[in-house]
Amino acid sequence: MSASGPRLQPTIFERSKPGRGGGLVPHPPSDALDRIPTEQRRERPAGLPELNEAEVVRHYVNLSQLNHAIDVGFYPLGSCTMKWNPKVNEWAARLPGFANLHPLAPDVTTQGTLQLLWELEQILLEVTGMRAVTLQPAAGAHGELTGILMIRAYHEARGDTARTEVLVPDSAHGTNPATATMAGLHTVSLPHEDDGGVAVEAFRRALGPQTAAIMITNPSTLGIFESRIGELLEAVHEAGALAYMDGANLNAILGRFRPGDAGFDVMHINTHKTFSTPHGGGGPGAGPVAVNERLEPYLPAPRILRDPDGAFRLERPGERPTSIGRMRAFVGSTGVLLRAYAYLRTHGGSGLAEVTDDAVLAANYLKHRLAESGAFDIPFEGVCKHEFIASASSIKKRTGIRTLDIAKRLLDHGFHAPTVYFPLTVDEAMLIEPTETESVETLDAFADALVAIAEEADRDPDVIRSAPHTAPVRRLDEAAAARNPNLRWRPAAGDWTPCPD
Ligand SMILES: *Cc1c(COP(=O)(O)O)cnc(C)c1O
Repeated sequence: MSASGPRLQPTIFERSKPGRGGGLVPHPPSDALDRIPTEQRRERPAGLPELNEAEVVRHYVNLSQLNHAIDVGFYPLGSCTMKWNPKVNEWAARLPGFANLHPLAPDVTTQGTLQLLWELEQILLEVTGMRAVTLQPAAGAHGELTGILMIRAYHEARGDTARTEVLVPDSAHGTNPATATMAGLHTVSLPHEDDGGVAVEAFRRALGPQTAAIMITNPSTLGIFESRIGELLEAVHEAGALAYMDGANLNAILGRFRPGDAGFDVMHINTHKTFSTPHGGGGPGAGPVAVNERLEPYLPAPRILRDPDGAFRLERPGERPTSIGRMRAFVGSTGVLLRAYAYLRTHGGSGLAEVTDDAVLAANYLKHRLAESGAFDIPFEGVCKHEFIASASSIKKRTGIRTLDIAKRLLDHGFHAPTVYFPLTVDEAMLIEPTETESVETLDAFADALVAIAEEADRDPDVIRSAPHTAPVRRLDEAAAARNPNLRWRPAAGDWTPCPD
């Protein structure tokens, strides 16, 4: 099934006309071609589409307007922290001294960038209560792999090689069990209690000399802070295992709870979530990993070091033989890390606690408004952290309308849908995270839209079932798109194309 709709336009290749465009380089030197060595010249034209400048600009601007974005409207995607990304971060990341630096430039010429990254590490240590940090991993999932590989190296270094299991609560993000598997370990799933916390008895039964680690998301993806965390971590360490914290929900605890103080050995930080880098389009992220003294020797190389004379440098190859090695080229996603630095410096120490307090307030306000309306089921009552779950379970029983239908109908109201069908443990789940950057008027408008859709489900379910009505495309076959992705444009047989193959 192909995407189609009145606002979709032909691809730029289909709009191309032979001979159109051209003349984009003003006054090229007459010997331009002679200056390029023969063996480096193309044998035939590159096959670029030919359009004039106005057509190119309009093509891409129109394409950009098909997407929902945080610059366009509310984006309450739970567990993803789609907060506003301040434009000053973009300015900082584009400063030519940073943006144009060659990744292989020697340390003496990159002191400014190294210092900035080193300072970012110090701030992250302050935020997490940990001992050392690596900025290398390219995203949260990559940080998880880095952390679990360090845990494996720790056990191996102690000759403790029979530890093959990782305990993971059943509400965890799918990347947690995937990480354990990629590191060659087995996942043991832990059930939760009625209040959303880890079921302690099941946890104690699962824990043993075969346990390498536990991976906990705190607060969990149910939006609930694990209040028995001290007790859990004590038992983990008594059993000789280590504790990994999935830090994707850091936005709920900044300046209020430091995982290092609570006894976690290692955690990742999704800078693109908590520290305001644009994300969601598949672009680069960053997943710094912070560790305590147990895991410091195993950090990826090269680390950024500060010599006694104040100069910064990268560790030399082989300088720290205990390292698990390199996890990524160069020092990390520098542009993303720069944005995180700008954000952290903007908010300062107490400003971060305010971020968290406002995020928690916004989530509880929205949760209260939905609970009060009676339109949705709210499976975990009481105070939530930065996100909460609403369920369309009763609506489905009454009208047949499901969470997916409601998510599609929300698009007609101008909102992005929340995260749906996650966590997997709640029937017809919607995981809603408003973040601290939304106004009370926006929160009210979103609550009104959800309540209106719930009422519409009784009155006019077919309108919801066939939503969205105003988006560039209607319902797509998501299963087919995932199983059989068609990502490459090809000309229809016989059509002219600027692309030779
Ligand atoms: C987003 C997320 C991850 C994965 O992080 P990426 O940066 O997307 O790789 C892991 N765990 C939780 C709870 C998350 O929300």
